[in-house]
Amino acid sequence: MRVAVLGAGTMGHGIAQVSAMAGHEVTIRDIDGEIVADGIDAIEGNLQGGVDRDKVTAEEMAAALDRISGTTDFAEAVADADLVVEAVPEDVALKKQTFEDVAAAAPSEAVIASNTSSLPVTEIVSALDDPGRGIGLHFFNPVHIMELVEVVVAEQTSEETVAFATDFVADVGKTAIEIRDTAGFASSRLGVALGVEAMRMVETGVASPRDVDRSMELGYNHPMGPIELGDVVGLDVRLDILEHLREELGERFRPPQILRRKVRAGKLGKKTGEGFYVWEDGEIVGTSGNWGDER
Ligand code: NAD
Repeated sequence: MRVAVLGAGTMGHGIAQVSAMAGHEVTIRDIDGEIVADGIDAIEGNLQGGVDRDKVTAEEMAAALDRISGTTDFAEAVADADLVVEAVPEDVALKKQTFEDVAAAAPSEAVIASNTSSLPVTEIVSALDDPGRGIGLHFFNPVHIMELVEVVVAEQTSEETVAFATDFVADVGKTAIEIRDTAGFASSRLGVALGVEAMRMVETGVASPRDVDRSMELGYNHPMGPIELGDVVGLDVRLDILEHLREELGERFRPPQILRRKVRAGKLGKKTGEGFYVWEDGEIVGTSGNWGDER
């Protein structure tokens, strides 16, 4: 198959990598030649890491790199594509424009997928004359490691497109879950629901951040508790997502005061050195507030 990936950033180069490893011919397109080259370098670095850890053979790496070409020419990138995956910045107007441009330059039967993590896919695919071939393919970062892909089915998406996209996901060695286009899809909605309840528990003094996290880490085998995860993602980012989910899904996603206070105070988590925890050099060194330092 021929796969065109639009955007060579964090997600674009990862999607190109797994597509090429699955045997597809891949064209990766970005607006600037240097970004395209950086994306291909990053793929090479990831594959070399795989070779070093005996996960990929040198031959597989060479063959995958052979199947990838880079360009800044939009029309050339999509001209022969069977599948186009866009991973351009998270802006609904840009994504709609991209879908419209793809429809004008790609074969009329090509499936067109968006890697959006939060925008309504139903609105993005409405930019197509034939929106039935539009769909969401939500990969996770880093793409070559994370196993899940949410196949986001818009109101207009045809059954053939869902089947095609689901097969593609299996082909690149990932596990597809099929989600009707709704705010937060499945993973963000559930992850954020857990995170917001965890914050309310800290706010009402049920337990310390550390002990709330331990309940999930040790009791449910989560690799990281919901409070720590919020600090890692960024509390400002968490607040934005909560506002959006509250608007779409209701009051159960209302951001807690403790979160608003932290964001107002610039305590955004790992990136600013303090959130629910205190961070130094990327590591937790204590708990913010009067919880003592249980670590
Ligand atoms: P990024 O900023 O790393 O990459 C975006 C790339 O798109 C950049 O290289 C930029 O030069 C390029 N670009 C900008 N305008 C363009 C245009 N008109 N045409 C083609 N390329 C253009 O962003 P990212 O993190 O890779 O995110 C891309 C998409 O993937 C977003 O929709 C984001 O929400 C989604 N996503 C991101 C993550 C993540 O963890 N980073 C996870 C899942 C989904």
